[in-house]
Amino acid sequence: MREVETDYLVIGAGASGMAFADTLVAHTEAEIVLVDRRHRPGGHWLDAYPFVRLHQPSAYYGVESRPLGNDRIEEHGPNAGFYERASAAEICDYYARVLDESLLPTGRVRFLGMSEYRGGDGDGHLVLSLLDGSETVIKPKRKVVDATYVQSEIPSRHVPGFTVERGIAFVPPNGLVDLAEPADRFTVIGAGKTAIDTCVWLLDQGVDPDRIRWIRGRDPWQFDRTYTQPLDLVGSYMRLQARWVEAAAAAEDGHDFARRLEETGMFVRIDSSVEPQAFRGATVSPRELDALRTIEHVVRARRVRSIGRTSVTTEAGDLPGSPREIYVDCTAAGVPPAAARPVFAPDRITIQYVAVGFLPWCAATIGFVESTGLDDEDKNRLCPPVVFSGDATDLPRLAYAAMQGQVARVRHDAVGPWNAASRLNPARAALDHIDDADVAESLAFMIEHTREALENLGRAAAA
Ligand SMILES: Cc1cc2nc3c(=O)[nH]c(=O)nc-3n(C[C@H](O)[C@H](O)[C@H](O)COP(=O)(O)OP(=O)(O)OC[C@H]3O[C@@H](n4cnc5c(N)ncnc54)[C@H](O)[C@@H]3O)c2cc1C
Repeated sequence: MREVETDYLVIGAGASGMAFADTLVAHTEAEIVLVDRRHRPGGHWLDAYPFVRLHQPSAYYGVESRPLGNDRIEEHGPNAGFYERASAAEICDYYARVLDESLLPTGRVRFLGMSEYRGGDGDGHLVLSLLDGSETVIKPKRKVVDATYVQSEIPSRHVPGFTVERGIAFVPPNGLVDLAEPADRFTVIGAGKTAIDTCVWLLDQGVDPDRIRWIRGRDPWQFDRTYTQPLDLVGSYMRLQARWVEAAAAAEDGHDFARRLEETGMFVRIDSSVEPQAFRGATVSPRELDALRTIEHVVRARRVRSIGRTSVTTEAGDLPGSPREIYVDCTAAGVPPAAARPVFAPDRITIQYVAVGFLPWCAATIGFVESTGLDDEDKNRLCPPVVFSGDATDLPRLAYAAMQGQVARVRHDAVGPWNAASRLNPARAALDHIDDADVAESLAFMIEHTREALENLGRAAAA
Protein backbone atom coordinates (compact mmCIF):
# COMPACT_ATOMS: atom_id res chain seq x y z
CA MET A 1 0.00 0.00 0.00
CA ARG A 2 1.50 3.31 -0.98
CA GLU A 3 1.25 6.50 1.10
CA VAL A 4 0.93 10.01 -0.28
CA GLU A 5 1.26 13.22 1.73
CA THR A 6 -0.47 16.37 0.56
CA ASP A 7 -2.06 19.53 1.97
CA TYR A 8 -5.63 18.93 0.75
CA LEU A 9 -7.37 15.76 -0.35
CA VAL A 10 -10.29 16.76 -2.60
CA ILE A 11 -12.89 14.01 -3.12
CA GLY A 12 -14.79 14.51 -6.39
CA ALA A 13 -13.57 16.21 -9.58
CA GLY A 14 -16.93 17.56 -10.75
CA ALA A 15 -17.73 21.26 -11.02
CA SER A 16 -17.40 21.65 -7.23
CA GLY A 17 -14.01 20.00 -6.75
CA MET A 18 -12.51 21.63 -9.84
CA ALA A 19 -13.63 25.18 -8.97
CA PHE A 20 -12.40 24.79 -5.39
CA ALA A 21 -9.01 23.36 -6.44
CA ASP A 22 -8.46 25.97 -9.16
CA THR A 23 -9.05 28.90 -6.79
CA LEU A 24 -7.08 27.42 -3.90
CA VAL A 25 -4.08 26.68 -6.12
CA ALA A 26 -4.16 30.21 -7.52
CA HIS A 27 -4.21 31.91 -4.11
CA THR A 28 -1.95 29.63 -2.01
CA GLU A 29 1.10 27.42 -2.36
CA ALA A 30 -0.97 24.37 -1.35
CA GLU A 31 -0.58 20.87 -2.79
CA ILE A 32 -3.74 18.99 -3.68
CA VAL A 33 -4.63 15.39 -4.46
CA LEU A 34 -7.88 15.22 -6.41
CA VAL A 35 -9.61 11.81 -6.53
CA ASP A 36 -12.62 10.69 -8.54
CA ARG A 37 -14.14 7.33 -9.30
CA ARG A 38 -14.74 8.56 -12.85
CA HIS A 39 -11.83 8.42 -15.31
CA ARG A 40 -11.60 12.17 -15.88
CA PRO A 41 -12.88 15.43 -14.37
CA GLY A 42 -16.35 16.81 -15.15
CA GLY A 43 -18.57 14.82 -12.78
CA HIS A 44 -22.15 14.24 -13.90
CA TRP A 45 -21.60 16.07 -17.19
CA LEU A 46 -19.67 13.00 -18.40
CA ASP A 47 -22.91 10.97 -18.36
CA ALA A 48 -25.39 13.72 -19.26
CA TYR A 49 -28.01 13.37 -22.01
CA PRO A 50 -26.56 14.64 -25.30
CA PHE A 51 -28.93 17.58 -25.73
CA VAL A 52 -28.35 18.99 -22.23
CA ARG A 53 -27.00 22.51 -21.85
CA LEU A 54 -26.11 24.60 -18.86
CA HIS A 55 -29.14 26.44 -17.61
CA GLN A 56 -26.99 29.48 -16.87
CA PRO A 57 -24.67 31.26 -19.32
CA SER A 58 -21.21 29.71 -19.80
CA ALA A 59 -19.76 33.16 -19.08
CA TYR A 60 -19.88 32.45 -15.35
CA TYR A 61 -19.65 28.65 -15.15
CA GLY A 62 -16.52 26.52 -14.67
CA VAL A 63 -13.40 27.63 -12.83
CA GLU A 64 -12.06 31.05 -12.09
CA SER A 65 -8.85 30.86 -14.11
CA ARG A 66 -10.24 29.86 -17.51
CA PRO A 67 -13.15 31.17 -19.59
CA LEU A 68 -15.75 28.72 -20.85
CA GLY A 69 -17.01 29.57 -24.34
CA ASN A 70 -16.70 32.89 -26.17
CA ASP A 71 -19.23 35.11 -24.36
CA ARG A 72 -21.35 35.09 -27.51
CA ILE A 73 -24.98 36.21 -27.51
CA GLU A 74 -26.96 33.57 -29.40
CA GLU A 75 -28.97 34.64 -32.43
CA HIS A 76 -31.10 31.55 -33.08
CA GLY A 77 -33.09 28.92 -31.22
CA PRO A 78 -34.73 28.89 -27.79
CA ASN A 79 -31.81 30.80 -26.24
CA ALA A 80 -31.80 33.64 -28.81
CA GLY A 81 -30.86 37.00 -27.31
CA PHE A 82 -29.07 35.40 -24.36
CA TYR A 83 -25.44 34.50 -23.64
CA GLU A 84 -24.40 31.08 -24.92
CA ARG A 85 -24.84 28.01 -22.75
CA ALA A 86 -22.32 25.19 -23.13
CA SER A 87 -23.29 21.64 -24.10
CA ALA A 88 -22.15 18.62 -22.07
CA ALA A 89 -19.40 17.86 -24.62
CA GLU A 90 -18.04 21.41 -24.34
CA ILE A 91 -18.12 21.25 -20.54
CA CYS A 92 -16.29 17.89 -20.43
CA ASP A 93 -13.62 19.15 -22.84
CA TYR A 94 -13.28 22.31 -20.74
CA TYR A 95 -12.67 20.42 -17.49
CA ALA A 96 -10.12 18.13 -19.20
CA ARG A 97 -8.24 21.25 -20.33
CA VAL A 98 -8.45 22.86 -16.91
CA LEU A 99 -6.81 19.76 -15.45
CA ASP A 100 -4.22 19.17 -18.19
CA GLU A 101 -3.33 22.77 -19.05
CA SER A 102 -3.86 24.65 -15.79
CA LEU A 103 -3.83 22.46 -12.68
CA LEU A 104 -1.33 19.66 -13.45
CA PRO A 105 1.33 22.05 -14.85
CA THR A 106 1.52 23.81 -11.47
CA GLY A 107 3.22 20.65 -10.18
CA ARG A 108 1.11 20.98 -7.04
CA VAL A 109 -1.98 19.04 -8.16
CA ARG A 110 -2.23 15.28 -8.66
CA PHE A 111 -5.31 13.63 -10.16
CA LEU A 112 -6.21 10.04 -9.30
CA GLY A 113 -8.98 8.96 -11.69
CA MET A 114 -10.91 5.67 -11.41
CA SER A 115 -10.12 5.95 -7.72
CA GLU A 116 -12.78 5.64 -5.07
CA TYR A 117 -12.57 7.31 -1.70
CA ARG A 118 -13.32 4.69 0.96
CA GLY A 119 -13.17 6.77 4.15
CA GLY A 120 -10.53 7.58 6.72
CA ASP A 121 -9.52 9.33 9.91
CA GLY A 122 -6.58 11.21 11.44
CA ASP A 123 -4.21 8.37 10.43
CA GLY A 124 -4.98 8.56 6.74
CA HIS A 125 -7.63 8.25 4.06
CA LEU A 126 -8.07 5.17 1.90
CA VAL A 127 -8.43 5.45 -1.86
CA LEU A 128 -9.02 2.30 -3.93
CA SER A 129 -8.09 2.02 -7.61
CA LEU A 130 -11.16 0.70 -9.45
CA LEU A 131 -8.83 -0.63 -12.15
CA ASP A 132 -6.35 -2.83 -10.32
CA GLY A 133 -7.62 -2.77 -6.72
CA SER A 134 -4.45 -1.15 -5.40
CA GLU A 135 -4.87 0.96 -2.28
CA THR A 136 -3.36 4.35 -1.51
CA VAL A 137 -3.40 6.00 1.88
CA ILE A 138 -3.56 9.77 1.55
CA LYS A 139 -2.39 11.87 4.47
CA PRO A 140 -3.67 15.44 4.18
CA LYS A 141 -1.69 17.90 6.31
CA ARG A 142 -4.51 20.42 6.21
CA LYS A 143 -7.98 19.22 5.24
CA VAL A 144 -10.13 16.68 3.47
CA VAL A 145 -12.49 18.43 1.06
CA ASP A 146 -15.77 16.69 0.38
CA ALA A 147 -16.82 17.85 -3.10
CA THR A 148 -19.47 15.11 -3.38
CA TYR A 149 -21.98 16.40 -0.85
CA VAL A 150 -24.31 18.16 -3.29
CA GLN A 151 -23.47 15.92 -6.24
CA SER A 152 -26.11 15.68 -8.92
CA GLU A 153 -28.46 12.77 -9.36
CA ILE A 154 -28.77 12.20 -13.12
CA PRO A 155 -31.15 10.13 -15.25
CA SER A 156 -28.62 7.71 -16.77
CA ARG A 157 -27.41 6.54 -13.34
CA HIS A 158 -30.73 6.75 -11.52
CA VAL A 159 -32.95 3.86 -10.46
CA PRO A 160 -36.63 4.91 -10.71
CA GLY A 161 -38.88 4.47 -7.69
CA PHE A 162 -41.44 2.37 -9.62
CA THR A 163 -41.59 -0.90 -11.53
CA VAL A 164 -41.53 -1.22 -15.31
CA GLU A 165 -42.80 -4.34 -17.06
CA ARG A 166 -40.28 -6.14 -19.23
CA GLY A 167 -40.41 -5.12 -22.90
CA ILE A 168 -41.62 -1.55 -22.30
CA ALA A 169 -39.63 1.19 -24.06
CA PHE A 170 -38.49 2.98 -20.92
CA VAL A 171 -35.43 5.21 -21.39
CA PRO A 172 -33.52 8.03 -19.72
CA PRO A 173 -33.40 11.14 -21.95
CA ASN A 174 -30.03 9.81 -23.22
CA GLY A 175 -31.97 6.98 -24.94
CA LEU A 176 -34.02 9.32 -27.12
CA VAL A 177 -31.14 9.79 -29.54
CA ASP A 178 -30.83 6.01 -30.06
CA LEU A 179 -34.39 5.08 -31.02
CA ALA A 180 -34.65 2.36 -33.66
CA GLU A 181 -38.37 2.85 -34.37
CA PRO A 182 -40.66 5.91 -34.32
CA ALA A 183 -42.96 6.18 -31.33
CA ASP A 184 -46.74 6.59 -31.19
CA ARG A 185 -46.34 8.91 -28.27
CA PHE A 186 -43.77 10.06 -25.71
CA THR A 187 -44.70 10.01 -22.03
CA VAL A 188 -42.30 12.22 -20.09
CA ILE A 189 -42.24 11.51 -16.34
CA GLY A 190 -40.93 14.22 -13.99
CA ALA A 191 -41.37 17.94 -13.37
CA GLY A 192 -37.84 19.28 -13.10
CA LYS A 193 -35.16 20.68 -15.38
CA THR A 194 -34.51 17.34 -17.11
CA ALA A 195 -38.17 16.90 -18.02
CA ILE A 196 -38.30 20.48 -19.27
CA ASP A 197 -35.16 19.96 -21.37
CA THR A 198 -36.63 16.75 -22.78
CA CYS A 199 -39.97 18.29 -23.73
CA VAL A 200 -38.29 21.34 -25.28
CA TRP A 201 -35.93 19.10 -27.25
CA LEU A 202 -38.74 16.88 -28.56
CA LEU A 203 -40.72 19.95 -29.64
CA ASP A 204 -37.62 21.49 -31.22
CA GLN A 205 -37.14 18.29 -33.24
CA GLY A 206 -40.63 18.79 -34.66
CA VAL A 207 -42.60 16.30 -32.53
CA ASP A 208 -46.25 17.35 -32.45
CA PRO A 209 -47.17 18.53 -28.92
CA ASP A 210 -50.20 16.21 -29.05
CA ARG A 211 -47.82 13.26 -29.20
CA ILE A 212 -46.30 14.20 -25.85
CA ARG A 213 -47.92 13.27 -22.56
CA TRP A 214 -46.33 14.82 -19.49
CA ILE A 215 -46.77 13.24 -16.07
CA ARG A 216 -45.60 15.81 -13.59
CA GLY A 217 -46.14 16.14 -9.89
CA ARG A 218 -45.19 19.40 -8.26
CA ASP A 219 -44.73 22.22 -10.75
CA PRO A 220 -41.56 24.26 -10.11
CA TRP A 221 -41.08 27.99 -9.80
CA GLN A 222 -38.31 28.94 -12.19
CA PHE A 223 -36.22 32.00 -12.87
CA ASP A 224 -36.94 33.73 -16.17
CA ARG A 225 -33.55 33.35 -17.90
CA THR A 226 -33.83 36.93 -19.15
CA TYR A 227 -32.71 38.02 -15.67
CA THR A 228 -29.66 35.78 -15.27
CA GLN A 229 -27.60 37.45 -17.98
CA PRO A 230 -24.06 38.76 -17.26
CA LEU A 231 -21.60 41.15 -18.96
CA ASP A 232 -23.29 43.57 -21.42
CA LEU A 233 -26.72 42.38 -20.25
CA VAL A 234 -25.81 42.57 -16.55
CA GLY A 235 -28.55 45.17 -15.98
CA SER A 236 -31.05 42.29 -16.23
CA TYR A 237 -29.29 40.33 -13.50
CA MET A 238 -29.06 43.41 -11.28
CA ARG A 239 -32.77 43.93 -11.74
CA LEU A 240 -33.35 40.39 -10.48
CA GLN A 241 -31.17 41.14 -7.45
CA ALA A 242 -33.16 44.28 -6.63
CA ARG A 243 -36.56 42.59 -7.09
CA TRP A 244 -35.30 39.70 -4.93
CA VAL A 245 -34.41 42.14 -2.14
CA GLU A 246 -37.78 43.85 -2.58
CA ALA A 247 -39.69 40.56 -2.28
CA ALA A 248 -37.52 39.49 0.65
CA ALA A 249 -38.30 42.72 2.52
CA ALA A 250 -42.05 42.10 2.39
CA ALA A 251 -42.71 38.35 2.00
CA GLU A 252 -44.72 36.63 4.70
CA ASP A 253 -43.76 33.11 3.67
CA GLY A 254 -42.24 31.12 0.81
CA HIS A 255 -45.31 31.15 -1.42
CA ASP A 256 -45.78 34.87 -0.91
CA PHE A 257 -42.09 35.41 -1.73
CA ALA A 258 -42.47 33.46 -4.99
CA ARG A 259 -45.68 35.22 -6.02
CA ARG A 260 -44.05 38.63 -5.46
CA LEU A 261 -41.17 37.57 -7.73
CA GLU A 262 -43.70 36.40 -10.30
CA GLU A 263 -45.48 39.79 -10.21
CA THR A 264 -42.22 41.50 -11.17
CA GLY A 265 -41.53 38.93 -13.91
CA MET A 266 -38.52 37.29 -12.24
CA PHE A 267 -40.20 33.94 -11.48
CA VAL A 268 -42.31 32.05 -13.98
CA ARG A 269 -44.55 29.01 -13.85
CA ILE A 270 -45.57 26.76 -16.70
CA ASP A 271 -49.29 26.64 -15.90
CA SER A 272 -50.85 29.83 -14.55
CA SER A 273 -53.73 27.86 -12.98
CA VAL A 274 -51.43 25.76 -10.77
CA GLU A 275 -49.53 27.11 -7.76
CA PRO A 276 -45.99 25.67 -7.95
CA GLN A 277 -44.84 23.84 -4.84
CA ALA A 278 -41.21 23.25 -5.83
CA PHE A 279 -38.17 25.49 -6.21
CA ARG A 280 -34.75 24.18 -7.25
CA GLY A 281 -33.26 27.33 -8.74
CA ALA A 282 -33.53 26.33 -12.43
CA THR A 283 -34.01 28.84 -15.24
CA VAL A 284 -36.21 28.81 -18.33
CA SER A 285 -36.37 31.19 -21.30
CA PRO A 286 -39.63 32.81 -22.47
CA ARG A 287 -39.39 30.86 -25.74
CA GLU A 288 -38.99 27.56 -23.89
CA LEU A 289 -41.95 28.46 -21.71
CA ASP A 290 -44.12 29.18 -24.77
CA ALA A 291 -43.11 25.82 -26.24
CA LEU A 292 -43.84 23.93 -23.00
CA ARG A 293 -47.30 25.47 -22.81
CA THR A 294 -48.23 23.84 -26.13
CA ILE A 295 -48.21 20.45 -24.39
CA GLU A 296 -51.80 20.06 -23.30
CA HIS A 297 -51.80 16.45 -22.22
CA VAL A 298 -50.53 16.96 -18.67
CA VAL A 299 -51.23 14.39 -15.97
CA ARG A 300 -50.82 15.68 -12.46
CA ALA A 301 -49.58 12.75 -10.45
CA ARG A 302 -46.69 12.96 -8.08
CA ARG A 303 -45.95 9.24 -7.99
CA VAL A 304 -45.94 6.69 -10.77
CA ARG A 305 -46.25 3.25 -9.17
CA SER A 306 -45.78 0.99 -12.19
CA ILE A 307 -45.69 0.98 -15.96
CA GLY A 308 -47.26 -1.99 -17.77
CA ARG A 309 -47.89 -2.82 -21.46
CA THR A 310 -51.32 -1.21 -21.56
CA SER A 311 -51.50 1.03 -18.51
CA VAL A 312 -49.57 3.27 -16.14
CA THR A 313 -50.53 3.07 -12.47
CA THR A 314 -50.17 6.31 -10.54
CA GLU A 315 -51.34 7.53 -7.16
CA ALA A 316 -54.03 9.46 -9.06
CA GLY A 317 -55.39 6.35 -10.83
CA ASP A 318 -54.59 4.30 -13.95
CA LEU A 319 -53.71 5.87 -17.29
CA PRO A 320 -53.85 4.16 -20.65
CA GLY A 321 -50.57 3.09 -22.22
CA SER A 322 -49.55 1.41 -25.45
CA PRO A 323 -46.68 -0.89 -26.40
CA ARG A 324 -45.45 1.64 -29.00
CA GLU A 325 -45.20 4.40 -26.42
CA ILE A 326 -41.79 5.64 -25.28
CA TYR A 327 -41.56 6.43 -21.57
CA VAL A 328 -38.84 8.92 -20.67
CA ASP A 329 -37.58 8.79 -17.10
CA CYS A 330 -36.86 12.30 -15.82
CA THR A 331 -37.43 11.53 -12.15
CA ALA A 332 -33.79 11.86 -10.99
CA ALA A 333 -33.55 14.70 -8.48
CA GLY A 334 -30.81 16.71 -10.27
CA VAL A 335 -29.91 18.67 -7.17
CA PRO A 336 -30.99 16.28 -4.39
CA PRO A 337 -31.86 17.78 -1.00
CA ALA A 338 -28.98 17.71 1.48
CA ALA A 339 -28.89 18.69 5.16
CA ALA A 340 -26.80 21.76 5.94
CA ARG A 341 -23.50 21.19 7.71
CA PRO A 342 -20.81 23.75 8.51
CA VAL A 343 -18.68 24.30 5.42
CA PHE A 344 -15.50 24.58 7.51
CA ALA A 345 -14.78 22.03 10.25
CA PRO A 346 -11.41 21.33 11.95
CA ASP A 347 -10.29 18.64 9.51
CA ARG A 348 -12.88 18.89 6.76
CA ILE A 349 -14.38 21.28 4.21
CA THR A 350 -17.79 20.36 2.80
CA ILE A 351 -18.50 22.13 -0.48
CA GLN A 352 -22.09 23.37 -0.54
CA TYR A 353 -24.15 26.16 -2.04
CA VAL A 354 -23.38 29.50 -0.36
CA ALA A 355 -25.46 31.48 -2.87
CA VAL A 356 -28.81 30.87 -4.57
CA GLY A 357 -27.50 28.50 -7.26
CA PHE A 358 -24.29 28.84 -9.33
CA LEU A 359 -22.36 25.99 -7.70
CA PRO A 360 -18.97 26.75 -9.33
CA TRP A 361 -19.09 30.30 -7.92
CA CYS A 362 -19.93 28.84 -4.50
CA ALA A 363 -17.09 26.29 -4.62
CA ALA A 364 -14.55 28.90 -5.76
CA THR A 365 -15.74 31.23 -2.98
CA ILE A 366 -15.12 28.48 -0.43
CA GLY A 367 -11.65 27.95 -1.97
CA PHE A 368 -10.83 31.64 -1.69
CA VAL A 369 -12.17 31.93 1.87
CA GLU A 370 -10.00 28.92 2.81
CA SER A 371 -6.98 30.75 1.36
CA THR A 372 -7.47 33.71 3.71
CA GLY A 373 -6.20 31.73 6.70
CA LEU A 374 -9.04 32.97 8.94
CA ASP A 375 -10.22 30.65 11.70
CA ASP A 376 -13.11 28.29 11.01
CA GLU A 377 -15.64 30.40 12.89
CA ASP A 378 -14.93 33.45 10.74
CA LYS A 379 -14.84 31.38 7.57
CA ASN A 380 -18.23 29.85 8.41
CA ARG A 381 -19.65 33.32 9.03
CA LEU A 382 -18.60 34.21 5.47
CA CYS A 383 -20.08 31.00 4.08
CA PRO A 384 -23.38 29.97 5.68
CA PRO A 385 -24.76 27.00 3.69
CA VAL A 386 -27.74 27.63 1.43
CA VAL A 387 -29.80 24.46 1.35
CA PHE A 388 -32.09 23.59 -1.56
CA SER A 389 -34.77 21.40 -0.03
CA GLY A 390 -36.78 21.60 -3.26
CA ASP A 391 -39.78 23.13 -1.46
CA ALA A 392 -41.01 26.63 -2.28
CA THR A 393 -41.94 27.04 1.39
CA ASP A 394 -38.20 27.09 2.19
CA LEU A 395 -37.49 30.19 0.09
CA PRO A 396 -37.20 32.59 3.07
CA ARG A 397 -34.74 30.31 4.89
CA LEU A 398 -32.66 29.82 1.76
CA ALA A 399 -32.73 33.52 0.89
CA TYR A 400 -31.81 34.48 4.46
CA ALA A 401 -28.69 32.32 4.53
CA ALA A 402 -27.67 33.49 1.05
CA MET A 403 -28.12 37.17 1.89
CA GLN A 404 -26.26 36.90 5.21
CA GLY A 405 -23.31 35.27 3.46
CA GLN A 406 -23.32 37.73 0.58
CA VAL A 407 -23.35 40.77 2.86
CA ALA A 408 -20.52 39.34 5.00
CA ARG A 409 -18.40 38.55 1.96
CA VAL A 410 -18.93 41.89 0.22
CA ARG A 411 -17.83 43.71 3.40
CA HIS A 412 -14.71 41.57 3.93
CA ASP A 413 -11.41 43.29 3.02
CA ALA A 414 -10.02 40.40 0.98
CA VAL A 415 -13.09 38.40 -0.03
CA GLY A 416 -15.08 41.45 -1.22
CA PRO A 417 -12.63 42.58 -3.95
CA TRP A 418 -11.95 38.98 -5.03
CA ASN A 419 -15.68 38.30 -5.31
CA ALA A 420 -16.31 41.50 -7.29
CA ALA A 421 -13.69 40.55 -9.90
CA SER A 422 -14.29 36.79 -10.14
CA ARG A 423 -15.40 35.56 -13.59
CA LEU A 424 -17.80 33.21 -11.78
CA ASN A 425 -19.74 36.11 -10.26
CA PRO A 426 -22.74 36.89 -12.51
CA ALA A 427 -22.66 40.55 -11.34
CA ARG A 428 -18.98 41.15 -12.06
CA ALA A 429 -19.63 43.57 -14.94
CA ALA A 430 -22.05 45.71 -12.92
CA LEU A 431 -19.63 48.53 -12.09
CA ASP A 432 -18.50 48.75 -15.74
CA HIS A 433 -22.15 49.38 -16.66
CA ILE A 434 -23.02 51.86 -13.95
CA ASP A 435 -24.46 54.20 -16.61
CA ASP A 436 -27.10 51.55 -17.38
CA ALA A 437 -30.22 52.68 -15.50
CA ASP A 438 -31.05 49.10 -14.48
CA VAL A 439 -27.65 48.73 -12.82
CA ALA A 440 -27.63 52.11 -11.07
CA GLU A 441 -31.22 51.90 -9.81
CA SER A 442 -30.87 48.29 -8.71
CA LEU A 443 -27.67 48.99 -6.76
CA ALA A 444 -29.25 52.00 -5.08
CA PHE A 445 -32.34 49.96 -4.21
CA MET A 446 -30.29 47.15 -2.71
CA ILE A 447 -28.14 49.49 -0.64
CA GLU A 448 -31.28 51.04 0.80
CA HIS A 449 -33.33 47.89 1.42
CA THR A 450 -30.98 44.99 2.20
CA ARG A 451 -31.13 45.51 5.98
CA GLU A 452 -34.94 45.53 5.86
CA ALA A 453 -34.90 42.39 3.72
CA LEU A 454 -32.59 40.61 6.16
CA GLU A 455 -34.81 41.52 9.13
CA ASN A 456 -37.95 40.32 7.39
CA LEU A 457 -36.34 37.13 6.10
CA GLY A 458 -35.05 36.38 9.60
CA ARG A 459 -38.64 36.60 10.89
CA ALA A 460 -40.12 34.58 8.00
CA ALA A 461 -37.42 31.92 8.22
CA ALA A 462 -37.91 31.52 11.96
CA ALA A 463 -41.69 31.27 11.48
C1 LIG B 1 -28.78 18.80 -16.17
C2 LIG B 1 -28.16 19.68 -15.14
C3 LIG B 1 -27.85 21.01 -15.46
C4 LIG B 1 -27.30 21.85 -14.50
N1 LIG B 1 -26.98 23.13 -14.83
C5 LIG B 1 -26.40 23.93 -13.90
C6 LIG B 1 -26.05 25.28 -14.20
O1 LIG B 1 -26.28 25.77 -15.29
N2 LIG B 1 -25.47 26.03 -13.23
C7 LIG B 1 -25.20 25.52 -11.99
O2 LIG B 1 -24.63 26.22 -11.15
N3 LIG B 1 -25.55 24.27 -11.68
C8 LIG B 1 -26.13 23.46 -12.59
N4 LIG B 1 -26.48 22.20 -12.26
C9 LIG B 1 -26.26 21.76 -10.90
C10 LIG B 1 -25.03 20.86 -10.86
O3 LIG B 1 -25.28 20.14 -9.75
C11 LIG B 1 -23.70 21.58 -10.85
O4 LIG B 1 -23.51 22.40 -11.92
C12 LIG B 1 -22.46 20.71 -10.88
O5 LIG B 1 -22.14 20.22 -12.17
C13 LIG B 1 -22.46 19.62 -9.88
O6 LIG B 1 -21.12 19.35 -9.64
P1 LIG B 1 -20.60 18.55 -8.40
O7 LIG B 1 -19.12 18.52 -8.53
O8 LIG B 1 -21.15 19.06 -7.13
O9 LIG B 1 -21.26 17.09 -8.57
P2 LIG B 1 -20.96 15.97 -9.66
O10 LIG B 1 -20.89 16.51 -11.02
O11 LIG B 1 -21.97 14.90 -9.41
O12 LIG B 1 -19.50 15.46 -9.28
C14 LIG B 1 -19.23 14.73 -8.11
C15 LIG B 1 -18.05 13.82 -8.42
O13 LIG B 1 -17.70 13.12 -7.22
C16 LIG B 1 -17.32 11.79 -7.57
N5 LIG B 1 -17.46 10.94 -6.40
C17 LIG B 1 -18.57 10.76 -5.63
N6 LIG B 1 -18.31 9.92 -4.62
C18 LIG B 1 -17.00 9.55 -4.73
C19 LIG B 1 -16.15 8.70 -3.99
N7 LIG B 1 -16.54 8.05 -2.90
N8 LIG B 1 -14.88 8.54 -4.43
C20 LIG B 1 -14.44 9.20 -5.52
N9 LIG B 1 -15.20 10.03 -6.27
C21 LIG B 1 -16.46 10.21 -5.87
C22 LIG B 1 -18.27 11.43 -8.70
O14 LIG B 1 -17.72 10.41 -9.50
C23 LIG B 1 -18.39 12.77 -9.46
O15 LIG B 1 -17.49 12.85 -10.54
C24 LIG B 1 -27.03 21.34 -13.20
C25 LIG B 1 -27.33 20.02 -12.89
C26 LIG B 1 -27.89 19.18 -13.83
C27 LIG B 1 -28.18 17.75 -13.47
